[in-house]
Amino acid sequence: MRFCRFDDNRLGVVRGDMVHDVTGVLEQLPPLSWPVPPGDHFFNHFDRLRPAMEAAADAAPGRPVSEVRLLSPVANPGKIIAAPVNYQLHLDESRADTQINFGTQVKTIHEYGVFLKANSSLIGPSQTVVADWADRRIDHEVELALVIGKRGFRIPLEDALDHVAGYMIGLDMTIRGTEDRSFRKSLDTFTVLGPHVVTSDELGDPGDLDFSIHVGSDLRQKSNTSLLVLGVAELIAYASKAYTLWPGDVILTGTPEGVAPVKPGDTMHAWIDRIGTMDVEVSG
Ligand code: MN
Repeated sequence: MRFCRFDDNRLGVVRGDMVHDVTGVLEQLPPLSWPVPPGDHFFNHFDRLRPAMEAAADAAPGRPVSEVRLLSPVANPGKIIAAPVNYQLHLDESRADTQINFGTQVKTIHEYGVFLKANSSLIGPSQTVVADWADRRIDHEVELALVIGKRGFRIPLEDALDHVAGYMIGLDMTIRGTEDRSFRKSLDTFTVLGPHVVTSDELGDPGDLDFSIHVGSDLRQKSNTSLLVLGVAELIAYASKAYTLWPGDVILTGTPEGVAPVKPGDTMHAWIDRIGTMDVEVSG
């Protein structure tokens, strides 16, 4: 199944080019009071809601996806985990290009571990990335993103993929410079997720997905997830050594070579095989 969040927080099941509004299913979520439990409220209950979403989609008329405003399919992630330099050719370009490394030594992912991006940086494809630091280089990084569906701590490698609810396209927007990654990658609008979640059973093996990003008509990045240094299962096992992974937590798996600047007025066109496409505008 594919599902999205759109317009004024509507929940949609996506079939082909059409979105079927199944927002009424959300009435089955238990009421919340303060403090809210850990995890994203929807993903905490997704397995139970899923059959009702399918049934509601059968009955709901479709609207073209192109006519709705797509929001991040994950509304309230508990945390956004990201993988640094997780493709060898991106490590190579980062070490070679002073406009990427700014004189800092670029280490390997085994040395860095993973890092966290602020949840407040999260937007969906209908919103715009704000690149208004005119004196600084702001780059796109296209990445396979996943959302956790089952809580786990110190998850064994062989069980890791069972903890994934589904997959999305992710953009890990980045200011180049000397500051810590958590600063440079956490500006408002610097994490984009969309266009929808493809459930893990529908997507299948995440380890062989072609993907790309164009800015305008220029092809900037093109790779395949088989080239990840730490693959999807390894990242889940690694991150969960440190953190309990809760439903709704997001992992951005890392970007390949070809990172390059964007400027106000640009439109980014991202694509991942078996997920789809998303277009995201850049404003000043
Ligand atoms: Mn990245």
